[in-house]
Amino acid sequence: MFCAGHMRQSVLNVLRPLYLLLLFSVLRPGAMIAQDIDILLRGGHLIDAKNKINGRMDIAVSKGRIVKVSPSIPSEKAERVIDLNGLYVTPGLIDIHTHVFVGPEAGFANGFYSVSPDDFTFKSGVTTVADAGTSGWRSFPLFKKQVIDRSQTRVLAFLNIAGSGMTGFPSEEDINDMDARMTSLVIGQYPDIIVGVKIGHYRGSDWTPFDRAAEAAGISDVPLLVECHLPLLPLEGILSRMKEGDIYTHSFCVASDRECLLDEKGRIKPFVAEARKKGIRFDVGHGGGMFHFNVAIPAFRQGLWPDSFGTDLHRISMNSGMKNMLDIMSKYLNIGMSFEDIISRATWNPAQSLKREDLGHLGEGAVADIAVFSIREGRFGFIDAAGYRLDGDRRIETELTIRAGRVVYDQNGISARSWLENQTIKF
Ligand SMILES: [Zn+2]
Repeated sequence: MFCAGHMRQSVLNVLRPLYLLLLFSVLRPGAMIAQDIDILLRGGHLIDAKNKINGRMDIAVSKGRIVKVSPSIPSEKAERVIDLNGLYVTPGLIDIHTHVFVGPEAGFANGFYSVSPDDFTFKSGVTTVADAGTSGWRSFPLFKKQVIDRSQTRVLAFLNIAGSGMTGFPSEEDINDMDARMTSLVIGQYPDIIVGVKIGHYRGSDWTPFDRAAEAAGISDVPLLVECHLPLLPLEGILSRMKEGDIYTHSFCVASDRECLLDEKGRIKPFVAEARKKGIRFDVGHGGGMFHFNVAIPAFRQGLWPDSFGTDLHRISMNSGMKNMLDIMSKYLNIGMSFEDIISRATWNPAQSLKREDLGHLGEGAVADIAVFSIREGRFGFIDAAGYRLDGDRRIETELTIRAGRVVYDQNGISARSWLENQTIKF
């Protein structure tokens, strides 16, 4: 006579081999062949400066990483295939100069000045930003909790030598709160996020703030970012104090509170050429008022090209001539820089500037931060910080942005299926 317990046992005895067979087939190498590749990007023109690729390549993405880059990857192993014929594929862009910490205080930067990264990054193909010292060692933990941990964009940070960051005058200029030891201590606590030290707003003639920032950068072996609103400190002294790998931003501007890189005849000053030879990197840092065609174009023609296209993204600049990183890149495309040179200055170069060589390329094993662009031809205008226009015939536009293997922006639905395939409601 069978009882319910016996019956259950017999069923289990019959099912166990089937279950084991199923388990074995799932674990066996190659069994999950249909899902080997989460996304296959097919037929795009890849520009990857680190890996010296400038041509047609297929790219396979799995579990958030690049697993294969090859002229032809079979599509039957892919869960999803995105056709990128006629489009450019690049590593996700890196913007090394942004302001994305809102903070608790309504000072110069905090409160009304900064923007939320995800709102503006992906639509420009940007997957990594570095905040340019909006926080200092005192406010960094709040910045991390409030923005960095909650953003899909990878947010890195330069720490302001001013302990509370960009809180405006007078606290931002309080030399007593510029502590090299505390700054480097906090850098040591967050080595994956903090990439450097920033010296920014200081209107005195004392070199102490600059020297403390350089000291903190030296202790931590990270670059010094000079976001130079230092009207009483001569440029030659600033550049001579900077070391190889340090970054000078707002490079191509004429402003009353800073000395221009060019002399009154538009020639590169000799000590600027020396600084470049020494390995100082020059970032655009366009901002609302920090990029002028009458400096950038003569500098470009004399070989002083930007090493990176930092936007100085904040609420004011994004609605001015700057707009976004692609607008700056398009300006250089129309000034005469090749698209390949532009992409390397938006990806691999800034990754090296931040000493984050895990980023800015699409080598096998790298995180799948990817951007896809088209270059539109037509009649376009570009505006500098003084409101002057450059006419151009090409504009770079985002088609698709992928962050850690996930589509986070798709301008024209190239990764999506037709609505006619939607079977949720049948009529
Ligand atoms: Zn800035």
